[in-house]
Amino acid sequence: MKHWNLDNQYVILRVDFNVPIRNGVIQDDTRIVKSMATIQELLDRKAKLIILSHLGRPLKETLADGSLDLGKFSLKPVAEKLSALLNRPVAFANDCGGPDTLAKREALTQGSALLLENTRFQKEEEKGNAEFAQRLAALGGYFINDAFGAAHREHATTATIARYFDKDHKAFGHLMIREVENGQKVLKNPQKPCTAILGGAKVSDKILLIGNLMNFCDTLLIGGGMAFTFLRAMGFKTGRSLCEIDKLDLARDLMHQAVERNVNILLPLDHVCADHIDNPSSILQTIDPNVPDDLMGLDIGPKTRELYENTIRQSKTIIWNGPVGVFEKFSFAKGSESIAHAIAYATQNGAFSLIGGGDSAAAINQFGLSQQVSFVSTGGGAMLELLEGKILPGIEAISGE
Ligand code: AMP
Repeated sequence: MKHWNLDNQYVILRVDFNVPIRNGVIQDDTRIVKSMATIQELLDRKAKLIILSHLGRPLKETLADGSLDLGKFSLKPVAEKLSALLNRPVAFANDCGGPDTLAKREALTQGSALLLENTRFQKEEEKGNAEFAQRLAALGGYFINDAFGAAHREHATTATIARYFDKDHKAFGHLMIREVENGQKVLKNPQKPCTAILGGAKVSDKILLIGNLMNFCDTLLIGGGMAFTFLRAMGFKTGRSLCEIDKLDLARDLMHQAVERNVNILLPLDHVCADHIDNPSSILQTIDPNVPDDLMGLDIGPKTRELYENTIRQSKTIIWNGPVGVFEKFSFAKGSESIAHAIAYATQNGAFSLIGGGDSAAAINQFGLSQQVSFVSTGGGAMLELLEGKILPGIEAISGE
């Protein structure tokens, strides 16, 4: 952060505290912990800190009588968690920019923090409403954005608000800087050979990503549900596997582009198949890329694991987006686990590895290897859009002027 004198100054900080809460209890505090470096520094620099965050989609999931579900979407438990982590009280305003905010703002002393209620309780937030953003901007003299997970949204507190501060009064927080630097590292100057592992459910979610990765990757390893659309396009049988029939031409086009751009696309040589994801009555390994009529491919098989592991181990830059199987189920997790171990091995030997977008961050956590890769992104959709080559509104609003 810049060398501003923040002593006794009101500073607005936008973070991503979009954590799962059940009956008022936080289930996973990773996002809160990842924001602590910026919060701690601002408090140490004696700022009067006003913190903004969204949480879930409260206006889309209201209670039966149409009222807000406070047990699920109020940020109050987060204020309590923050107090515990900082070991000092954190005030909480039960509105976002209303009378309670103004009263508690007045009561702030230097080096203390006030968390406002969920920004998405206001319909103006997701509309990027200028009046709402301006009202919140008036609460402080500086604006810091550390909400990478929401940087791909053009919302009032992720983008619009920053436009009310000149370049000397707005900045990125530590988390945002690390996310963008690590994303840019693979986009701008990847060490070769560069390999991307793409999995997850659908090709249609990742078309832009595949196109942009071909600009700088040498090899794309395809797995997960999306592999079956490519295999079907090549004439293999895909049984009851996830397959987007209306995207076969697109898959062929991507494969042609790969040949023209000298990019190697590898597809599964074999699969682990079953009749059902939950409680399957039979699980079998295929001997080739074909899937029997009555089964679904739910993980990559042993020959594919070996091929993909060897490719990853020899890479110097690795991007992993999306699990190569239904990793949430023990029977179909082996492929994603072998990918995670191969990435950890390559990283230990000097490769740079970025895990981000989709469920791959959850997968690497599940296998206990998140400390053995170079960087695990906190932003699913935001990292995906960054790797697609898009300019993110939350970043542009701070650095674009
Ligand atoms: P994404 O959000 O696109 O990364 O998709 C992640 C989801 O894809 C996970 O919940 C996986 O269980 C699922 N997935 C991975 N491989 C398969 C597969 N072969 N068939 C069905 N779903 C899959």
